[in-house]
Amino acid sequence: MIYLDYSATTPVSYDVLESYLKATKDFPGNPNSLHSLGIKSKTLLNSATKQISELFNVLESEITFTSGATESNNMALVGTCLANMKSGNHIIVSKLEHPSIYKICEYLETIGFEISYVNNDQDGLVDFEDLRKLIRPETILVSICAVNSEAGIRQPLKMIRQIIKKENPQVFFHSDMTQAVGKTPVNFHDVDMASLSAHKIFGPKGIGLFYKNSRVKIEPLIHGSGKSNELKPGTPPLPLIVAFSKALRIALQDLDKKENFVKRLNEKIVSELSTLDGIILNQTKYSIPHILNLSLERIRPETLIHALEEFEIYIGTNTACASGELSTSVMALYNDRRRAMSTIRISISYVTTSDEINRFLAYFKNVYNKLNHLMDN
Ligand code: PMP
Repeated sequence: MIYLDYSATTPVSYDVLESYLKATKDFPGNPNSLHSLGIKSKTLLNSATKQISELFNVLESEITFTSGATESNNMALVGTCLANMKSGNHIIVSKLEHPSIYKICEYLETIGFEISYVNNDQDGLVDFEDLRKLIRPETILVSICAVNSEAGIRQPLKMIRQIIKKENPQVFFHSDMTQAVGKTPVNFHDVDMASLSAHKIFGPKGIGLFYKNSRVKIEPLIHGSGKSNELKPGTPPLPLIVAFSKALRIALQDLDKKENFVKRLNEKIVSELSTLDGIILNQTKYSIPHILNLSLERIRPETLIHALEEFEIYIGTNTACASGELSTSVMALYNDRRRAMSTIRISISYVTTSDEINRFLAYFKNVYNKLNHLMDN
């Protein structure tokens, strides 16, 4: 099998699974219980949270564990809007967000919020001047993805933060960092809120993180009992949290080295596939090397994906959460509907080997040329 859909999800790594199993077996108590088993679990929960807070240089109280980035994005957008309605009803997002952000925006519109979509240039960079003009006294929140999930565009969050705060210091800044963490450096201090998900970094599915600094006012979306966290009541999923902490520690090690390795693999794929007739690269100078987006001029993306699957080669369409639909990001980049309807996404990880890429390229060219040939007849 050759798996090249790491941006959709990653397999759980062995060490992470070990942490999960150990926490499950040895820490059965509810961290909210008063007895010694509960206290033992609470101690482990505190230490996993502390490890994560130290990785990002933030306070433990600024971290909330969620079920994944979708939930974190909801907390960020809906939670901020509901808590700050008196200050305004306007929020700004980019045109390169994950579909979950757009779905939340649709909901927010139904309850009276106004959404503006900031423009970007052809390379995907947020248009700073447009952003500046869009910010007004009623603006309460700006949300910009750190790394776009479809074409891998990385945004300069620190610069964007400066623009926002200069224009209106009351505006909160959120970033969905799900595709950035473990691939490229991220800094929570560039933003007021951030969303992460463990299953993109060889952690388990069903656990994510919502960061918010202590200045942000959020309305809890979930109500219940449990003392651990006001935004996420209930029994904390201790084994998932411990496993997430392990996955993060591994993911953040040797980032430069891992990124350079992935860059070489990306360049190899680009140099070979860009010579094929009917393939257009949707990659800009701001794309991270882990995500390689292509449009097919003559073959339907699903036809190619299923043909490769016959050889146990797995690649994705634009984003796993919007498979088979128009790629909003490619549309935002090139304003070309045909190009945006025919995208495939090859996503690479530092665990990908050069041998896998060589074999992938051989199969890809073979399958692609056969399908292309069929179109001629
Ligand atoms: N945001 C981004 C940028 C993503 O890539 C994804 C996963 N495709 C999500 C949010 C949703 O994450 P989760 O599956 O953890 O809810």
